Amino acid sequence: MLKQQIDIHTLWANFLSVARTKVSAHVWQTWFKPIQPREIVDGTLILAVRDQFFRDWLSDHYLDFIRDHLNDIAGENLALDWSLDPTIKAAMVDSNEDMAGETEVLLENTQEVVFNPRTQALYSKQFNPRYTFDTFIAGPSNQLAFAGSKAVAENPASSYNPLFLFGGVGLGKTHLISAIGQQILQDRPGARVIYTSAEQFVNEVIAAVRFSKLEEFHAKYRRNCDVILIDDIQLIAGKVRTQHEFFHVFNTLYDSQRQIVVTSDKLPHEIPDIEERLRSRFQWGLIADIQPPELETRVAILQKKAENDKIDLPDEVLHFLASSIRSNVRELEGALVRIAAHSSLTGSAIDINYARNVLTDILSTRPAQISIESIQKTVAGYYQVKMGDLKSASRQKVIVRPRQVAMYLCRKHAGASYPELGIKFGNKDHTTILSAFKKIGSLLKEDPTLRSEVFALERKLDLTNLV
Ligand code: ADP
Ligand code: MG
Repeated sequence: MLKQQIDIHTLWANFLSVARTKVSAHVWQTWFKPIQPREIVDGTLILAVRDQFFRDWLSDHYLDFIRDHLNDIAGENLALDWSLDPTIKAAMVDSNEDMAGETEVLLENTQEVVFNPRTQALYSKQFNPRYTFDTFIAGPSNQLAFAGSKAVAENPASSYNPLFLFGGVGLGKTHLISAIGQQILQDRPGARVIYTSAEQFVNEVIAAVRFSKLEEFHAKYRRNCDVILIDDIQLIAGKVRTQHEFFHVFNTLYDSQRQIVVTSDKLPHEIPDIEERLRSRFQWGLIADIQPPELETRVAILQKKAENDKIDLPDEVLHFLASSIRSNVRELEGALVRIAAHSSLTGSAIDINYARNVLTDILSTRPAQISIESIQKTVAGYYQVKMGDLKSASRQKVIVRPRQVAMYLCRKHAGASYPELGIKFGNKDHTTILSAFKKIGSLLKEDPTLRSEVFALERKLDLTNLV
């Protein structure tokens, strides 16, 4: 048998250099580096670590990893076992120990943070534990965003970088970006995942500049960060200094293959007052849109929510809600929560009449029906054509599309008949309106650019939640 002849120190050195390429530097430094290979007894390699905590953590997270790679290198089937040796020095930084329990301190430390297992909990605390992939309902409206987010969570920095999640209010952007962070932390304990809103980021830049703490700011976001997740990035519009800082954070992380994820309620080209070089960087990876969910997805979201919160939701009410609130999941959930709260307060079962009342409340805060003129005006402005063009008979491509979109939106939202619309679009035949409506309706199914244009217009018109 060869086993006794294996030089365990060479074996271990080889393992460490392979591991170095597979796990993050701090996991390697903190967990693998301090392990001491001791001996091989009857085909079992004994590894010494400092204490039980260390042993358990490694067994839980990296046992297979260590065994498989060692066996690859050794060309043998070695088993692993542990021994404890309190004299082994931890690579963990003891000076970080006082960080436990103080979230704020976590990311403000100026020194290089070598991963401390207790900081793991602090990274996790940044997230709403409900926002995971498990609780997210995928459907045609969010397929790409969902798949892109999963790919990034599974292979940070090697699938899409950056990932730009785009969608209207209440459609699950924060949910998805949080799911990415939580999944990475779960799969890669020790990953330094920073989640922040653009608003918070702006405040930190201001504070760093004002109190001469830029060095700390850079340490936090450039050096001590493996994954950055910035929610609502559109809020850095017009913030010159923040954009400058973010640009450098972006470059540093990107160049060293670290993952960047941002969410936005606007597409990069729609965000006003933003540096061109940032705008173009947002387009380097994947831009994935989240559209308002289809009926089936809305039903599934309500079902899941009712199930999680143990709400006994009659089918009738479920379908009523799902078919009434169409384009904001937060409101959909909000309506359900209000209805459930009412029923538990009054001790009565959830009923459709109360559901109708709640809905009337929600809908009455929205504008009444929108006029044909305001839709035409908004569409003309958006596509930069003239009102007259929309009513003309021009066959130029740059005019035909906006005209058809305007017709589509008017039919969908202004409550006017085809003949009436024909008149408002320069005395056209009602069949022209009808065919534009159908054409755009079917193009919307296959053309994501058009979808986001139409959605942007509906948002401008504040139409996203009208029935
Ligand atoms: P946004 O950040 O886009 O404004 P959020 O992520 O805050 O929206 O979502 C609003 C609410 O709707 C959250 O409670 C979220 O969990 C829920 N939600 C949105 N989309 C989905 C979905 N596809 N499946 C389950 N819950 C969803
Ligand atoms: Mg959000």
